[in-house]
Amino acid sequence: MKTPIRPIRKLLVANRGEIAVRVILACRELGIATVAVHSDKDQSSLFVAMADEAVCIGAAPPRESYLRVDRILDAARATGADAIHPGYGFLSENEGFGRAVEQAGVIFVGPKPDTIAQMGSKTAARMTMAAANVPTIPGYQGDDRRPETLREHARKLGYPVLVKADLGGGGKGMRIVHADADMPAAVAAASREAAKAFGDGAVYLEKYIENPRHIEVQVLGDTHGNCVHVFERECSLQRRHQKVIEESPSPSLSAELRQRICAAGVQAARAVNYQGAGTVEFIVGPQGDFYFLEMNTRLQVEHPITELVCGVDLVVAQIKVAQGQPLPWTQEEIFQRGHAIECRIYAEDPENGFLPSVGRLLRYDVPFGPGIRHDGGFQTGDEVSVVYDPMLGKLIVLGETREVATQKMIAALDRLVVHGVRTNIAFLRHLLTLDAFRSADFHTRWLDESFDGWCATQHLPDFVLAALLLDDAYHHRDQVTLAAGSPNVNKAWQGPWVSLGDWRGTSGGGE
Ligand code: ADP
Ligand code: ADP
Ligand code: MG
Repeated sequence: MKTPIRPIRKLLVANRGEIAVRVILACRELGIATVAVHSDKDQSSLFVAMADEAVCIGAAPPRESYLRVDRILDAARATGADAIHPGYGFLSENEGFGRAVEQAGVIFVGPKPDTIAQMGSKTAARMTMAAANVPTIPGYQGDDRRPETLREHARKLGYPVLVKADLGGGGKGMRIVHADADMPAAVAAASREAAKAFGDGAVYLEKYIENPRHIEVQVLGDTHGNCVHVFERECSLQRRHQKVIEESPSPSLSAELRQRICAAGVQAARAVNYQGAGTVEFIVGPQGDFYFLEMNTRLQVEHPITELVCGVDLVVAQIKVAQGQPLPWTQEEIFQRGHAIECRIYAEDPENGFLPSVGRLLRYDVPFGPGIRHDGGFQTGDEVSVVYDPMLGKLIVLGETREVATQKMIAALDRLVVHGVRTNIAFLRHLLTLDAFRSADFHTRWLDESFDGWCATQHLPDFVLAALLLDDAYHHRDQVTLAAGSPNVNKAWQGPWVSLGDWRGTSGGGE
C-alpha cells in the first residue's frame, strides 16, 4: 500500500474562480509553482493573474475548456506540471479524468480513481456502506426499475418517498412523492432530468426522511493507512437541495451523537481505503437517527468552516497526502474551537425567483478584520457571465460562540459591497436575524417553505449608481476613445450601461 514520497514542484489547477485561487494560495505557501488553465472568457480573471503560468484551453462553455481532459493533459505536459488539483465540480469526481492523469505520469490530488468510481453511483455507494455497517436510508434499488415496480416498492416503503438519480449531484434528478398517484409522473420527471444532467436516467427510491438535517463529516486519509475525521458541518440551510449557509460545529448535535456520526464517517472512509480529503454526508432525522447519504470524493465548497474551527489547512493536507506524506495530524490533535459560519455569495436575484444576475462588477469590496475570511475569485471590473456557476465567493467568520459568529457575519455582510449585479447578500443577512436561525430550529426544507417571493426593503439609491457608472466609464475611457472614430462608438459608450444588466433603479424603496 505504501507509496514513496513524490515531491510536487509544479501543480496545474484544473478549475477556475474562487477554488482555483484557494489552491494557488496553498501552493505558494508550500513553494510549489502553479499553472492555471482557463477558457478564453477567463483570460483576465484573478486566478489566471495569480498563477505562475497560464494556458488557454478553449472557449467559454465548460465542454470546450474545463471539461476537456485532452487539453488539460496537453497543458500539463507543455508546462511540465507534475500534479493536477481538480477543485470541485467540473472533472473533480470524474473517474476517467483521475485515470488519465495517472496514466500520464502526473499526480492526481484526490482519491484513487477506483474510489471515485465506487462512490460515484449513489446506489453502489449505498451497497458498499451497508456492507460496512454504516446505516443507510431504507430504499429500493433492485435490478427491475420499471415504473410499476418502483411504484410497488414505494407503497411498501410507505410515502413520502424520494425518487433519486443513481448518478445525481448538485440537487438534480430528485422528486419527493407524497401520494401513490403521483409516482409515475415523478419517476418520469426525475429520470428525464437525470438523463439530461448526467447522461443516465437511472433512478432508485429512498424513504423520504421528513424534517431532517444535513450533517456531513470531513474525512482525510493518507497512503499509509491513516484515516481521521475533522469533525462535522451543519448544512441544513438549503434552497432546492443546494446549500446556502453552513456552520461548524452543528448546533443540533449532542456530544454523544457528534462522536457517533464522526466515527461513522471514518468507518465509511475506511471501507473504501479513502486517500485524500473527502466528505461523508449524512441525513439526520428529528429523533437523532442518522443515515449515510453520499460521499463526495473531493474538496467541498464549505471546507473553510472546518479549517477555521479546527485550525487546519485542508488543501495543504491534500497536497501532502498526494505527495505520499503521512497525515499532518493524528485524530487526538484535532479539535473544534469556537464557531464558524459560511455564507455563499451568489450573483442572483432573490426577489426574482433567485434567477442568476449577470454583468460587470462595478464594485467588489470585501470586508476584513479579526475572524473574517473571504474566499473569492472576482475583483472590481470583472464580468459575471451566465456560462459559469453564479457563486461570486464565500464569506466565512469565526467567533468564540455561535452568537458571536452570527453577529460577526451580519457585520461582515454589511461591509461586503457588490455593485453591478444583483446578489443574495440582503437575503443572507435577513436569514441570520430570524428566530429560527438564532435558535437553530430549522431543517433542509425550511428555506423552500418559508421564502417564496422574498423582498428586500432597501436598494442602492440612483445617485450612487450614477456615480459608479461614471467612475466605470472613466476607467474604461481608453476603450471609448479608441472607438470614437469607429462605427461602434455607440456600442462602446453603452459599455457601462450595458454592464448594469437587469438593475432597476428603486430610490423610492420598498416595492
Ligand atoms: P457541495 O456540497 O460542495 O456544495 P455540491 O454537490 O453542491 O457540493 O457541488 C459543488 C459544486 O460542484 C457546485 O458548485 C456545483 O455547481 C457543482 N456540481 C456538483 N455536482 C454537479 C453536477 N452533477 N453537475 C454540475 N455541477 C455540479
Ligand atoms: P446531491 O448529490 O445532489 O448532493 P444528496 O443525496 O446529497 O444529492 O441529497 C441532496 C439533499 O437532498 C440533501 O442534503 C437533503 O436535503 C435532501 N435529501 C436527499 N435524500 C434525502 C432523503 N432520503 N430524505 C430526505 N431528504 C433527502
Ligand atoms: Mg450531496
